[in-house]
Amino acid sequence: MPCASTCAFCNYCARDFRSLSLHCNAAMGALMRVLVVGGAGYIGSHICKALAERGDTPIVLDNLSRGHRHAVKWGPLIEQDVRNVSAVTQAMSDQGIDAVMHFAANIEVGEGQREPLAFWDNNVAGVVALLKAMERSDVRHLVFSSTCAVYGEPQALPITEREPRTPVNVYGQTKHVVELMLEDVSSIGALKYAALRYFIAAGASPDGEIGEEHDPETHLVPNALKAAAGLGGPMHLFGDDYDTPDGTCVRDYIHVMDLAQAHLQALDRLREGSASFACNLGTGTGISVKEILDAVEAVTGNPVPHTISPRRVGDAAQLVSDTCLARDLLNFTPTYSDAKTIIEHAWAFHAPRWGVSRD
Ligand code: UDP
Repeated sequence: MPCASTCAFCNYCARDFRSLSLHCNAAMGALMRVLVVGGAGYIGSHICKALAERGDTPIVLDNLSRGHRHAVKWGPLIEQDVRNVSAVTQAMSDQGIDAVMHFAANIEVGEGQREPLAFWDNNVAGVVALLKAMERSDVRHLVFSSTCAVYGEPQALPITEREPRTPVNVYGQTKHVVELMLEDVSSIGALKYAALRYFIAAGASPDGEIGEEHDPETHLVPNALKAAAGLGGPMHLFGDDYDTPDGTCVRDYIHVMDLAQAHLQALDRLREGSASFACNLGTGTGISVKEILDAVEAVTGNPVPHTISPRRVGDAAQLVSDTCLARDLLNFTPTYSDAKTIIEHAWAFHAPRWGVSRD
């Protein structure tokens, strides 16, 4: 499999991703070999694409329990569970890993309430194992996929990083506990980390190459597109009696490619010598569920059949990010994260896979 972008520097990388590092990295000085744990999933695969586009080499470690083999396109896949410390340590050594990004987690809030132990095992024990492997391999930089769910019901909007962390569901609790663990481990100088607290990741690669493929799908944008495409019946709109302008929940949607760029910036800050940090990733703009449905109608040209269903347990009325820290620390300004672009890209990804015309 040929490498993405830097083959001009040597004759080896078209054959072997490891050679890409040893040869091209030496020639270019600063490129990295990044272990992307969970890189076969939605956000992880977009990060891999972004890493490769700038010349870094993503090495995916994924047990494929939720991710997709076909989404691993920019480097090797190590099919392995992150909780296997010796295998992960071996992979880091074999692959000459410089830094780690972690995305392998159970994310569906309702599932966490039904199966808390599975969440604690994968989301927390998985990071314990990863940190042990990093320590044994002397790999010191970690970008960790966290969430705005660590804040629970916010006391103030927009939500700054100083907001108390009082998660209200199992998913948020597992991410919060990992952040506490990272604070402890980094306090003794063994590790530097960036914990990135996402609001709602949405959209797809602008070229349609990869996108959101959860099974079952619980997220708003793909579910609304599916309903607009006439597949699977009306979608559920969970609650229209919130204390918001139109009664539906308000969220901060960030395009997955903007999210990817922020990850690269976060890794660069750590490599440049920044102390460990936690940072929100959102746009600062709140969009209601009804506004998302309107945007889906405008993009697809179809109405979005839906029924008003009871509120989903654990859904706050409004979650909108303060963006100051991301702007100041990561130089982060979203370029794709308006509702229309997010939905156009998601639609361009899904429509052909669903066998639906985009016209
Ligand atoms: N939502 C909805 N119907 C769906 C999926 C989501 O009404 O089929 C609502 C949900 O209640 C929330 C918003 O859309 O207010 C975003 O939910 P999503 O699951 O996409 O994001 P998450 O809550 O996982 O961050």
